[in-house]
Amino acid sequence: MRRKLIAGNWKMNGSFSANRLLLSEILAGVSTTPACDILVCAPAPYLSQCAEILAKSAVAWGAQDVSAHPHGAFTGEVSAAMLADCACRYVIIGHSERRAYHAESDELTAQKVLQALANNLTPVLCVGETLEQRESGQTNSVVAGQLCAVLDVLDVGQLSRLVIAYEPVWAIGTGKTATPQMAQDVHAFLRQQVTVRDAAAANVVRILYGGSMKPDNAAELLCMADIDGGLIGGAALKSADFLAIVAAV
Ligand code: 13P
Repeated sequence: MRRKLIAGNWKMNGSFSANRLLLSEILAGVSTTPACDILVCAPAPYLSQCAEILAKSAVAWGAQDVSAHPHGAFTGEVSAAMLADCACRYVIIGHSERRAYHAESDELTAQKVLQALANNLTPVLCVGETLEQRESGQTNSVVAGQLCAVLDVLDVGQLSRLVIAYEPVWAIGTGKTATPQMAQDVHAFLRQQVTVRDAAAANVVRILYGGSMKPDNAAELLCMADIDGGLIGGAALKSADFLAIVAAV
């Protein structure tokens, strides 16, 4: 049985004072032995604050991006070793906003995943199609291309360390959610891509759904066979909504 993971992606939101309030409300609302893994992915300047507030709690913290390079003259970049230094356990990689606004390629994404794994971080690899791609029947080929670019650079032993997040671009921040069956179909297809490389790894790899997940649709998504959690944007910024999604597991 895969343990579910509920992850908040704060995107470029927050401040020391707002984070302190949000995190204290989340801590007050989660049990010390929650029914799922819980994660918040904060902007890099606040990772140390997360480490300070969340240390020894049931809530893990992670970053939203990482450099493809280990160190050196890459102004503005943050290395995987630096994230590990901030005691991050996870890092989101290849979010559609990185792909769209920063022209991140599948190849760059794969290098970032390797950096994360080399530093004992769990990569949360995002894949997803645009509305145009879905409407022209390309969903499976798009997500397979994004996923396989990463699977191709991993050893078989590394496959089970990956978390995949299926985030249809048309559902992000739009209020439009994939129906549970639409999401399940893509999740099952993604798991099949891992199965052909290693069936045992495919069984343990967690595949999260992201895209307008809210308290009122979380339960129906999270009960699908291949949906192992959520990657939550807007609703992760409100403690009541985030806690309600955790409670829906
Ligand atoms: P929303 O939950 O705001 O749609 O964002 C989803 C997302 O992009 C999480 O990474």
